[in-house]
Amino acid sequence: MKDLGRPRAAWAGKGWLKFEMSGPDELAAALRSGSRRALARAVTLVESTRPDHREEAERLIEAILPATGGATRIGITGPPGAGKSTFIERFGLDGVARGHRIAVLAVDPGSKRGGGAILGDKTRMTELAKSPGAFIRPSSAGEQSGGVARRTREAILVCEAAGFDTVLVETVGAGQSETSVAEMVDMFLLILPPAAGDELQGIKRGIIELADLILVNKADGDLLEHAQRAAAEYANAVHLIRPALAEWQVTVRAVSALTGNGTDGVWEDADRFRAALEASGAWARRRAAQAQAALWNEIGDGLLDRFRAAPRVAARLGSIEREVAACQRSPASAARDLLAAFLKET
Ligand code: GDP
Repeated sequence: MKDLGRPRAAWAGKGWLKFEMSGPDELAAALRSGSRRALARAVTLVESTRPDHREEAERLIEAILPATGGATRIGITGPPGAGKSTFIERFGLDGVARGHRIAVLAVDPGSKRGGGAILGDKTRMTELAKSPGAFIRPSSAGEQSGGVARRTREAILVCEAAGFDTVLVETVGAGQSETSVAEMVDMFLLILPPAAGDELQGIKRGIIELADLILVNKADGDLLEHAQRAAAEYANAVHLIRPALAEWQVTVRAVSALTGNGTDGVWEDADRFRAALEASGAWARRRAAQAQAALWNEIGDGLLDRFRAAPRVAARLGSIEREVAACQRSPASAARDLLAAFLKET
């Protein structure tokens, strides 16, 4: 693809990007013209935690904002081994064949525990990765969950500005990141192995309640019956939960990501979901509420960063935390003291 605008970014040193010579406007133009290199650079820029990169990233996001918002944003979660990457490969290739352009992002706060990025394994989604209609972005280790959420939110916008109409955000289903991903996508999809509720390890009930669509995977071969039985059980269970959206009854499907059995229906579900929410106005309302929530998250994260970094606070934080942990001080009075010290300083 042609690289218009040619942002003069280059890998240097330990892989840090140098953006000094190319402004965010140039990068934004290259991104919108369809340059793959610009897309990869833009995502790297919004993922960077370096303060000067952060400033550039914010300017880039401001520049591309009018070109964002068009995609259907789908969160995908499920326990390890449920078949998420197999499903994304299948669903993604089906989507490309239907004329969609698909971006896949990963949220992986757990990778700092040493497991490596969930999409880092090169053997995953090999076909989809080769497709010109798709973009797959492995996640790098994140230090703070707040940072992960911001980076992913901005990476979604970058993908939209680059013309992707579907953005899939994958998480590992461990619990911490699902809620924050649910707050930045339109539709939340849960992929489960073909086992009934009681046998399911590590999936929290709260995650099931976030799901708009539940796929019981591996409905093939010997596992077909298990998957169908589990799907029927989940369908009964979700009918007992009060629907989160008046427009949408949570759908449960038994699918096989391996054979493709039933996966095509998921594109229809996504289309129906979007059409129903757009018709009622909920689509735009939810987007507006998500943007406002993101504003408050940014304010909260920014204040906390400043708070922790303030010398008067930093000097006392450790001892006060210990006193509170030992029940020698109440959390409320300790917080009041620290806040007073912070405000004196600012
Ligand atoms: P993830 O950890 O959730 O991303 O799971 P993977 O997509 O890596 O799949 C885990 C294992 O399950 C792999 O060995 C896959 O080949 C297998 N698998 C995934 N989908 C299916 C399916 O639909 N049917 C069967 N039989 N196996 C599957």
